[in-house]
Amino acid sequence: MTPAKTAITAVPGKRSSLYLIAEDNPADAELVKSLLQQAVGEEYSVLCVDRFDKLKDALARDTFEALILDMNLPDRSGIRNISDLGQQYPELPIVVLTGQDDLELAVQSLNKGAQDYLSKNHVTSELLSRSLRYARERKKIELRLKKALQQSAYRNAKLQTMAQHDALTTLPNRACFQTTAPRMLMRAARSKKWLSLLYFDLNGFKKINDSYGHLTGDELLRQVAIRLKSTVRESDFLARLGGDEFVVVTDLLDNKRQIYKLINRLQSVFHKPFNIAKHHILCTPSIGVAFYPDAENLQLLIKQADCAMYEAKAKANTSVCFYTSQLESQFTRTMEIESHLSEALRAAQFDVHFQQVFSPGQAQANHIEALLRWHSPQLGEVAPDEFMHIAENSPTINEITRFVVSKCGELLSLASAPDKADFKLAINICASQLSSASFCDQLIMWLEKYHIPAHSVCLELTERQMVDDSGECSAQSKRLRALGMQIALDDFGTGYSSFTHLLELPLDYLKLDRVLVKDIDSNTRNQALTAGIVEMAHRLGMKVVAEGIESKEEFDIACELGCDYLQGYYIARPMPITEFVSHAFAQAADKHLQAGA
Ligand code: C2E
Ligand code: MG
Ligand code: MG
Repeated sequence: MTPAKTAITAVPGKRSSLYLIAEDNPADAELVKSLLQQAVGEEYSVLCVDRFDKLKDALARDTFEALILDMNLPDRSGIRNISDLGQQYPELPIVVLTGQDDLELAVQSLNKGAQDYLSKNHVTSELLSRSLRYARERKKIELRLKKALQQSAYRNAKLQTMAQHDALTTLPNRACFQTTAPRMLMRAARSKKWLSLLYFDLNGFKKINDSYGHLTGDELLRQVAIRLKSTVRESDFLARLGGDEFVVVTDLLDNKRQIYKLINRLQSVFHKPFNIAKHHILCTPSIGVAFYPDAENLQLLIKQADCAMYEAKAKANTSVCFYTSQLESQFTRTMEIESHLSEALRAAQFDVHFQQVFSPGQAQANHIEALLRWHSPQLGEVAPDEFMHIAENSPTINEITRFVVSKCGELLSLASAPDKADFKLAINICASQLSSASFCDQLIMWLEKYHIPAHSVCLELTERQMVDDSGECSAQSKRLRALGMQIALDDFGTGYSSFTHLLELPLDYLKLDRVLVKDIDSNTRNQALTAGIVEMAHRLGMKVVAEGIESKEEFDIACELGCDYLQGYYIARPMPITEFVSHAFAQAADKHLQAGA
């Protein structure tokens, strides 16, 4: 049976406040009621229960202003009554009113969730009134505090997640990798199993960003991350380290071969194009693989996987490379070059040598190629073939070209007046530069600054990196040609420059690499190839330059096969500017005369 509520001075139509008294002693209950009547000035109702189960029923049915609780009820007693009620009804202010005048118990009651503790022996209506008011206020403050704490805990958890995850892809980030990978390494060590680290990035991602825009680049990374997430196993750790770099750590491998499946799955992620804003973008990863305990710590493991990835990138026909000890020395050298390269310009360690290019039709050769030289105090002479591919991937590349242009300006200023007009200065640039409009703007400014007429410049395009946006490259080439510059496709025959480029790019010269020219006098296949290329180039309106002519025999046959220009040690070596100015033309004329004899 539901206990009856006692309404005291209830005002019709207005919802009166409701108090709950839990008291099993009827005399005490009456006493509390009368104290309450004096204590509460407003209209209110009161409900009195004499058992704990009834108390719970009442609380389940109604909302009370406060509970005046005698802890010891016949069916359940003790301090646990307070903690249970506090937990189940966190918004209910509880005032304990008990016959036990015990300070220790009072403290315990407050700790367990009561807002106040009164002794029946000393209670007065004033005390009860104050206690109820305080209890309600304390409860309100307590609830506000609790809410604030919850919000701050939520915020902290969110910050924690943000600090450990990448905002773009939601994958774990570098910080998370730095904390998770060592744990996986320890687990592998404990269980005496292999751990593998796969480090990979997306080939040509920079080009995708440049040509389709950063939003498309971001979307590509997001889609790649989604596909990767569904590809790796729960137990594998996948993270985005930054940019287009990802890592997968997989541990507890019984043998190294187990990693092949994962590699296949990773590669399959890139089989289908990514559809982004009407573009169908195909991209491939370069994956470097290293193992623990071959690498005995995380730092070394990352270094080895990175080194292997670098190797995978360098090899055109493979997208995966496993770390081997042979890679180590190459890698160390690359690292050394990379670390010293950035200071080379500032420290004036670069120089430009000039090599004459000979034309059988002209006695006086006025085509000159500018070739960069690096003398590093730490590494000695470093060949451009060793450092240019590193420079090409760094922001230094444009500053290097600026330096080369400045040196060309210097050479031009030293040349005698009549020759100047026909000078053609070949400046090497990489395809990624030519596909950047801002680089071309800069180049035009530099030529002006160093007083080099545009028609005196031939840009030699070397293409070590993949160029995915040949469209932009071609557009910029057209723009520069319209200003009078010429464009040469360098290193033809090495695999870097392909027939496709002949069709896509507006070109003036085709430079046959030394691999085709070497021993051309005795190698009939190379002869046939060269003859064919010369014929094709001429039909396409291009002149042909044979590079790397080292002997009279090579010189003669290259002339015979119709090459328009010849370049090589046989004619002239690359020389520092002063030497070039004083000797180059005279030497070339002599060689020409000897060759003709
Ligand atoms: P490249 O543009 O094909 O330059 C021709 C290379 O052949 C030069 O090597 C030159 O010194 C070398 N050479 C000339 N005649 C002979 C010869 O008879 N026999 C042999 N074996 N080699 C000969 P170098 O100076 O070591 O430059 C290598 C490459 O580095 C250049 O190849 C070019 O692609 C790149 N490079 C040089 N300077 C620059 C630069 O300023 N910017 C850029 N982007 N690349 C540069
Ligand atoms: Mg060149
Ligand atoms: Mg070349």
